[in-house]
Amino acid sequence: MRLIDKQLNVPEKILKMKDFNDTFELVKLAVNSKFNMHRAGLSLILQALPSRIGAYHILGSNVIVVNRTILNIIQQHKSIEEYNSYLFMVLVHEYLHSFGIIDELGVRQMTYDLCCSLLGIDHPASVMAKGDPSTLFPELNLLRGERFDEHFEVTKNFDKTTQSYIQ
Ligand SMILES: [Zn+2]
Repeated sequence: MRLIDKQLNVPEKILKMKDFNDTFELVKLAVNSKFNMHRAGLSLILQALPSRIGAYHILGSNVIVVNRTILNIIQQHKSIEEYNSYLFMVLVHEYLHSFGIIDELGVRQMTYDLCCSLLGIDHPASVMAKGDPSTLFPELNLLRGERFDEHFEVTKNFDKTTQSYIQ
């Protein structure tokens, strides 16, 4: 691990994340440190989605949608570290897409590289970034719902530090 990566202390910060805003601040810090990329003004939406979709970004928009059903299941069955790691990994992935990178395998590889650099190869976020999260969370197979929920909630105060840029 590079000294600069050690100083960021992402493993410690993942344990202390309290909300989506904390998580996203850490995601931005991590992506900027690893790839020297940054942007502002994203919104996060939580929505119940089919279980095969963890999250998605609408290309060209400033919206990241995360599957609320999966978050709920992981929160109920797993440790705070695993829950926070999942959220971190998913938001890194979608954040990278928001730079216009559409190559799915490329984004997966970048997410995995970032997690390995900043967290180490054995960290839950790295393990999840490498494979399918359901290998670590068999509980996800409990999900049977395959339809989109028409109800969704917009996360308040998300990306708060850059509110003024949101159109
Ligand atoms: Zn993707």
